[in-house]
Amino acid sequence: MTEHYDVVIIGAGAAGMMCAIEAGKRGRKVLLLDHAKKIGEKIRISGGGRCNFTNINTHPDKFISSNPSYMISALSRYTYKDFIKLLDKHNIKFHEKKLGQLFCDGSAQQIIDMLRSECDLAKVVLQSGISIHNIEKDNNKFQTKTNDKTYLSESLVMATGGLSVPKIGASKFGYEVAKQFKLNIIETLPALVPLTFSETLLEKCKELSGLSVEAMVSFKKKIFKEGMLFTHRGLSGPSILQISSYWKLGQNIEINLTPQLDILDYLQFRKKENPKQEILSIVSEVLPKRLAVILCNDCNISGRIADLPKVTINKLSNSINNWRINPTGTEGYRTAEVTLGGVDTKELSSKTMMSKNNEGLYFIGEVVDVTGHLGGYNFQWAWASGYVSGQYV
Ligand SMILES: Cc1cc2nc3c(=O)[nH]c(=O)nc-3n(C[C@H](O)[C@H](O)[C@H](O)COP(=O)(O)OP(=O)(O)OC[C@H]3O[C@@H](n4cnc5c(N)ncnc54)[C@H](O)[C@@H]3O)c2cc1C
Repeated sequence: MTEHYDVVIIGAGAAGMMCAIEAGKRGRKVLLLDHAKKIGEKIRISGGGRCNFTNINTHPDKFISSNPSYMISALSRYTYKDFIKLLDKHNIKFHEKKLGQLFCDGSAQQIIDMLRSECDLAKVVLQSGISIHNIEKDNNKFQTKTNDKTYLSESLVMATGGLSVPKIGASKFGYEVAKQFKLNIIETLPALVPLTFSETLLEKCKELSGLSVEAMVSFKKKIFKEGMLFTHRGLSGPSILQISSYWKLGQNIEINLTPQLDILDYLQFRKKENPKQEILSIVSEVLPKRLAVILCNDCNISGRIADLPKVTINKLSNSINNWRINPTGTEGYRTAEVTLGGVDTKELSSKTMMSKNNEGLYFIGEVVDVTGHLGGYNFQWAWASGYVSGQYV
């Protein structure tokens, strides 16, 4: 059986639904297909169930891409304020948690319901739980083939997302279709992902499990000053997730455990002011005691500060202000929030999101080589790329 549409969109996630709504509003006959039974699953599990749906500090410098100017046009044509207008229309309340991150007051399901109802208004035909076998192009029409049907369309939009969390629907399909149509793929890697560590470091992390500090974590010139969490699996928390998107295997990450304080200056000052005070008690004033104990033990340092040689104080200061760790890897796509890399944006129009060499073929959202920092930027990219493509498909 064959059915005709103007636009077929594969992937009913954030970007696909936004594109469907916009195309439908223009009067295009739109079919939105997803192989998962439940659509918008990543929205549902995002932001701890409250969806960090955008960030008021959205700027191209919050994104990673081998073509760093690609996202500028879309982000300027659909901003966080546009998404807020949509939330206001649906009376969805939200708040800023920190660093410009906007979350729903209620649940992430409100966003999914809002997008579904906008799809209905725009007369989008939505089908979930549909396996797509393959895509072909013939006589300027795309053929999307399922078990029992072929859908013909002028435009085909790949909005299949990245590779993270495969158990809720992530697949390679978008990348495979890109390759089929001879588009280049920038190597994909898990990002915004917890890192893994050697046994020695892991033992320490286990002892400190549950403890969190405000740390400055850096890799080369990239610096993030956010929370860092010790867990029984290693180090995590926002600053570690952020740096994971930049870190390269085999190289060190530097951690400053007291970014607000030059610990060497401080210890020298305290040595003059309170020479009889125990080093552990001084360090415990600026760091949680459990961490202070481990740091002092590691440097083999105890007793009164006055009795400690300069070289020992230097060693301790270094381990606090310049702690170097060498991760052994990442936890991979199972726990990653996003996928780094993807469809090479040099092959796409930044105005329309269409492939430069394949008329009618579009790539949007996370499947593209545009990856946001933690904090609502990835959804803003999904909304913006969905919105602009929806004006042209
Ligand atoms: C745990 C977690 C928490 C997150 N929290 C946040 C957050 O708070 N803020 C933020 O900005 N970002 C967050 N992200 C990232 C964000 O969810 C994604 O960047 C965003 O959903 C990407 O949108 P998308 O539409 O491109 O892809 P998706 O939302 O992943 O949608 C892709 C859709 O395509 C479908 N699909 C895949 N393959 C096929 C196929 N072969 N056939 C048919 N359909 C297919 C999938 O079922 C899915 O419905 C989080 C991610 C995770 C995993």
